[in-house]
Amino acid sequence: MQSWDGERERLLRELEFRVGVTSVMLSTLDLDYILYVILTGITSGDGLGFNRAFLFLDDDRRALKVKLALGPESAEDARRIWSELEREHINFSELLPRFDGFRQDTASQSLTRKMAAFAMPLNHLESLAVSTQTLILAAEAPLSAVMARCLLNQSPFASNSLTLIHEVGGGAGEVLELRNVAVVPLLVEGVLMGAIVADNRYSARPVDSEALRSLHALGNLAALAIDRARLHARTVAMAEVDGLTGVYNRRYYAQAVEQAIERAGHSGQSLSVVVFDLDHFKRFNDQYGHLVGDELLKGVAKLLVEHVRSTDVVARYGGEEFVVLLKETSAEGALSVAEKLRTTVQHHPFVDGLVEGLTVSAGVACTTGNESPEELFQRADRALYRAKEEGRNRVRVASSGGTR
Ligand code: GH3
Ligand code: MG
Ligand code: MG
Repeated sequence: MQSWDGERERLLRELEFRVGVTSVMLSTLDLDYILYVILTGITSGDGLGFNRAFLFLDDDRRALKVKLALGPESAEDARRIWSELEREHINFSELLPRFDGFRQDTASQSLTRKMAAFAMPLNHLESLAVSTQTLILAAEAPLSAVMARCLLNQSPFASNSLTLIHEVGGGAGEVLELRNVAVVPLLVEGVLMGAIVADNRYSARPVDSEALRSLHALGNLAALAIDRARLHARTVAMAEVDGLTGVYNRRYYAQAVEQAIERAGHSGQSLSVVVFDLDHFKRFNDQYGHLVGDELLKGVAKLLVEHVRSTDVVARYGGEEFVVLLKETSAEGALSVAEKLRTTVQHHPFVDGLVEGLTVSAGVACTTGNESPEELFQRADRALYRAKEEGRNRVRVASSGGTR
């Protein structure tokens, strides 16, 4: 009777934990936080209680790479951390608010860094994977080979006899060893998106079928939460980014420039916009075809991004017209950026040098926040018009803006 009560108690605790993890994972769209929640759930004592956990995700469905690793780095580290958690009675839900500290804590990033060189190409799983027979008989195997087998089988795997090896890289011969290990694939609607690896390297507690089942169940929930966050991020990006060139779109520029003007109004700092238009672009399209034309647009966009600061905004305003928002930049500063870009485009070997003679014209306008985004753009556009009229392949600066 007593053991029946004990079992009931255990099941209730497990259910409570699972509902807790699920609700936290689905309460946010911050992918980094979701990954932290998953690994904290796997490693916390009142969660699944593994020593360490590693989360791998695909980059564009091409290769699995580690996104986060959580756990002690040595046996000594493990003892210190666990005694602290026990002494302070810190459980899963109390670990969650430590996320921001965790992000800055270099010690806890070190395990993730040790996995930085790990990349498993998803189209080569067959050639990487070891046979199931080897998994049963061998004492030691590369982590990647075991993961590849597990991903191909699309089923969870655990071993208490096999040591999994990952060579840390960097030429120092450092090796990460995983023991009493479990691997579960992460799938969404049958499509592989990642994997979780967890081990009990320091406590040496065997991974039983129960523990593997719990990890698999948590992995299935984790895959859903990760998928949801990535879908959201993609949707946001699609609403802000130009599909052809990958720079921001006009909608994003509109809200960025509005904010920047408002900020400039408060700080008294000036900001500038530069409108770039490809010269005689219609001719290039006619001569080389639309596909090459598209390559030219992508090439120019790339040069623009490379030549401005990461805080500046490069956007495709329309067909073959780009606008660059330069924060905290005077008219002189913007002119020199625009000139540098103009000469760079003029000498750049577009499409492997196939296309010659492409140039851009540009119009610069600077403001201290006393005009509307539309007025600012119009001034830059009129300066661009002058640059075109005066022969193209040149930059013109608008006279200073009117006061409102
Ligand atoms: P100007 O020096 O006066 O700017 O001459 P232009 O030929 O560049 O100007 P115009 O406005 O007459 O032509 C712009 C051309 O840009 C026409 C259009 O087909 C092309 N264009 C616009 N968007 C795209 C695009 O996405 N891909 C390609 N390949 N061409 C585009
Ligand atoms: Mg043009
Ligand atoms: Mg144009």
